[in-house]
Amino acid sequence: MPTYRDEVVVLRTHKLGEADRIVTMLGRRHGKIRAVAKGVRRTSSKLGSRLEPFMVADVQLYAGRSLDIVQQAESLGTYGAEIVADYDRYTAASAMVETADRLGDADASASHYLLLVGGLRALSLAAHAPRSILDSYLLRAMALSGWAPGLEDCARCSAPGPHRSFVAQVGGMVCANCAPAGSARVDENTTAQLRALLSGDWDHVDAASTGTSAAASGLVAAYAQWHLDRGIRSLSHVGVAR
Ligand SMILES: [Zn+2]
Repeated sequence: MPTYRDEVVVLRTHKLGEADRIVTMLGRRHGKIRAVAKGVRRTSSKLGSRLEPFMVADVQLYAGRSLDIVQQAESLGTYGAEIVADYDRYTAASAMVETADRLGDADASASHYLLLVGGLRALSLAAHAPRSILDSYLLRAMALSGWAPGLEDCARCSAPGPHRSFVAQVGGMVCANCAPAGSARVDENTTAQLRALLSGDWDHVDAASTGTSAAASGLVAAYAQWHLDRGIRSLSHVGVAR
């Protein structure tokens, strides 16, 4: 039997026919998986309740010719209820799964999986401001895909930092010679906040002022939008950092 198991995060679902759903998941071992879950739109379906967005599950799948089929799902983490109950957490989680969906075909699927599970768990526990959890996730997910922003030396000519301009299109902080005319100046606190978000230094992240958090969020959003080229729709619904 061509069946396989994986631990997955449910990224999104959409309707198929009368009672079925297509479920897009990020697997720890298999990367992005699209599979049919049969009969899950009936209210009595236990399978359906375990395959909602933001849920973490151990699934068994049958490898079909075009689409795989979900045979079983055991819940590993029910972060959905806490996330969906709060608008800021929900918009942050939506931007995270949309990013994971975009990056899911890249290598390092176990790292992407663990990063996403960690982020959703932190959102469900309200461990930090939702926007900071999202910003840290975005920077680290892009770093896993080989797009870590340069925060020290100039991202264009490698002149030693610190530098005061951030240019998403160039890949991070750039020196005065490389900064295009009119590019925004970034203060030291904001650069330090970006560094802390990227490294997961939560004591530093949580202590930042509202202004610094908001400035860093703006740069992270610009950087993510640029590198994920089509733009992450969910990011436009995310409020300012608090
Ligand atoms: Zn330079």
